[in-house]
Amino acid sequence: MTTKAVGLQIPFHRADLGEEEVHAVSEVIRSGWLTMGAKTFEFERQFANYVGASHAVAVSSCTAALHLALEAVGVRRGDEVLVPTTTFTATAEVVTYLGARPVFVDIDRRTLNIDPRDIERRITAHTRAIIPVHFAGTPCDMKEIMEIAARHKLHVVEDAAHALPSDYMGKRVGTISEVTAFSFYATKTLTTGEGGMITTENEEYARRLQVMRLHGIGRDAWKRYGAEGSWYYEVLEAGFKYNLTDLQAALGLAQLAKCDGMNVARERIAGRYTKAFRSLEALEVPAISLDRTTSWHLYVLRLNLDQLRIDRSRFIRELADRGVSTSVHFIPLHLQPVYQRDYHYKAGDLPAAEREYERSLSLPIYSAMRDEEIEHVIWAVSDVVSSCSR
Ligand SMILES: *Cc1c(COP(=O)(O)O)cnc(C)c1O
Repeated sequence: MTTKAVGLQIPFHRADLGEEEVHAVSEVIRSGWLTMGAKTFEFERQFANYVGASHAVAVSSCTAALHLALEAVGVRRGDEVLVPTTTFTATAEVVTYLGARPVFVDIDRRTLNIDPRDIERRITAHTRAIIPVHFAGTPCDMKEIMEIAARHKLHVVEDAAHALPSDYMGKRVGTISEVTAFSFYATKTLTTGEGGMITTENEEYARRLQVMRLHGIGRDAWKRYGAEGSWYYEVLEAGFKYNLTDLQAALGLAQLAKCDGMNVARERIAGRYTKAFRSLEALEVPAISLDRTTSWHLYVLRLNLDQLRIDRSRFIRELADRGVSTSVHFIPLHLQPVYQRDYHYKAGDLPAAEREYERSLSLPIYSAMRDEEIEHVIWAVSDVVSSCSR
């Protein structure tokens, strides 16, 4: 290790927040109206416009968005829902909220996205829906997935927690299937601290989502929160408390205004990483497909372990010793205790996901990264490779 390691500490993530956000949130505080109101509706309008969707419904998280979306398309007790095993637990946990069963699907080893061929193999008479997850921001093979869904009469609910903004065959993610769920969690490409959005082209779903996110109260009745101050409202369903607040929406509006710029910055970092790492035999850089773009929410590096004297965990420790924080996306869900206990999954069941997990790590990639930080990550990775190669 050279002396370059001394000093710099690169966090895995740092949110890109400036005076615009401070100003936007202060304005809401001064207005005296904190919860869902005019700012939230303005955020929905601008978000729908940004992705080109007909309807956008703001909610408290992507987990809430996925739950409401599955409820809206009619997932019920006893149904099966196909979920890639390489995702965050939220994607599968929402299926259990409705008494349905998550059925894990293996991934395509090139893209790390759900494998359409494995989707076909896991469809049964009970299958009701598919949740494609656009891993790292790279859109799934949506043409194939939509064809399978049409053939088997299945609903498609996209988990686009990583995919803002991402395009697929000229269409932006958020306009492709029936319903799409986005995340504004602290580490995502647009953040409101916590928050989420559902986009849909289906007006009936949009109306259902608006009712169910706020206690099942009839749409016109939300006006009790408005200046009209009507005290009358109707509870149409036993709904949920999943609304966004105007404080969060103000943050979201400020972030949305710079969403394209932040994306360009991540793209540039990814380009520099790939240029530096693509010629190293011990490393595999992310695959790029010409018919889609990625948000670059994550930059997942894969190790060619036969070229190295160390495993992935040790590689992560070596980077940490050089001041670089990394992460792993994701530990396959079928290896997690809860899913093994409840659905009897075991190691070996989804081999592609397990193999790729063992050799994956995610590097820091965010628009607030400084040039010297990017250079430092490139140096650290190259230094670990050269000192630990076979
Ligand atoms: C972050 C994430 C979620 C959950 O998002 P929240 O807004 O935190 O609920 C869901 N799916 C994936 C793939 C994620 O990475």
